[in-house]
Amino acid sequence: MTSKWDWMRLELERLDSLSLRRSLSAVRLLPGGWLEKDGRRMLNLASNDYLGIASEGGYVTEEADALQTGAGASRLVVGGTEELARFEEAYAAYHGVGAALVYGSGYAANVGVLGALLTRDDAVFSDRLNHASIVDGIVLSRAEHFRYRHLDMNQLEAMLKKVSEAAPRRKKLIVTDAVFSMDGDAAPLMDIIALKERYGALLMIDEAHSGGVCGKEGRGLADALGAAEHIDIHMGTFSKAYGALGGYIAGDTVLKEYLVNRSRSFIYTTGLPPVVIAAIERNWRKVRAADEARDRLRRNAALFREGLAAAGFQLGDSASQIVPLLAGESERAVRMAARLQQAGIAAVAIRPPTVPEGTARIRFSLMAQHEPEALLQAVQVITDAGKQEGIV
Ligand SMILES: *Cc1c(COP(=O)(O)O)cnc(C)c1O
Repeated sequence: MTSKWDWMRLELERLDSLSLRRSLSAVRLLPGGWLEKDGRRMLNLASNDYLGIASEGGYVTEEADALQTGAGASRLVVGGTEELARFEEAYAAYHGVGAALVYGSGYAANVGVLGALLTRDDAVFSDRLNHASIVDGIVLSRAEHFRYRHLDMNQLEAMLKKVSEAAPRRKKLIVTDAVFSMDGDAAPLMDIIALKERYGALLMIDEAHSGGVCGKEGRGLADALGAAEHIDIHMGTFSKAYGALGGYIAGDTVLKEYLVNRSRSFIYTTGLPPVVIAAIERNWRKVRAADEARDRLRRNAALFREGLAAAGFQLGDSASQIVPLLAGESERAVRMAARLQQAGIAAVAIRPPTVPEGTARIRFSLMAQHEPEALLQAVQVITDAGKQEGIV
């Protein structure tokens, strides 16, 4: 029997045959760095809840006030509260900039800011391993897209130079992840800042994986390097270390005014519900006060990385709480993930097109709450599985 969905089934079968098919599973985060998946308790080495704030749960407000579950409209209509306006002001001050704008998600923020700032006449310079939401924003903007090799400052400079010489007044924007989501390495921000200044480009950085994790009170990588004032457009998310939902853009007040008027993923969507805004505010307080958790996270990541490196695994240039274990082919990464889950470790195979062809991996992510003992045991389990898979 044929059906109108056969073409979809065929494509799914093709993905299956290449070990590229993905599927959903039902998971519940548990406190202490654990989770429950398919009824089994596993060590949570797969989430972005680095400080454990989402996993902890708890009441959004101490008074247990009833909070509205919906904003009722888009921000430009009647969908923004006084609390949200105050939060944006305080959040801008925290980042030392004039204004901040909250989006429904980090994805929406990236798509919305790039789509608003760039036109088909402009040039955008983007690290090849930047997050998919940056790529989508660039595609939507129709700007000319210069993708430089991962962290390759020579190539970035050559591209900037060529564009500047051909058209000195053309608008140029450099955009990069601060910490790369699938590799855990960091962008050379000081070098990028030098280039942006030399060639008169704007600089936007995505602090999705560094916000809350590094810098004073969790301000991020640019702050940790003492370079925040050189960033033109700060972007980040409230859905990773912040343990809630939402994205933000922070920068000059005129940037915010412009986005409010031009950013489609801000304008044509409903504001975040008051209950979510309250969760963001509560979690932001936790983030600022989390120095001890940040220290534990750093120590846990170092312990885990050193253990896996000593066992002979290839971990790329990870220098953060994100530790990729490179497996090569997708099939091998999928088998490795299945072995680890069998052994009680939540591990997910990350495959193309999320990562380049031939670099399928297990993306481990550490949490402040992990017990060092549990991590050492996990290293042993991973090493055994890696030997069986011929990875080490
Ligand atoms: C997760 C992520 C985003 C998207 O953030 P969400 O709030 O989850 O939509 C954007 N950029 C990077 C680098 C990310 O890792």
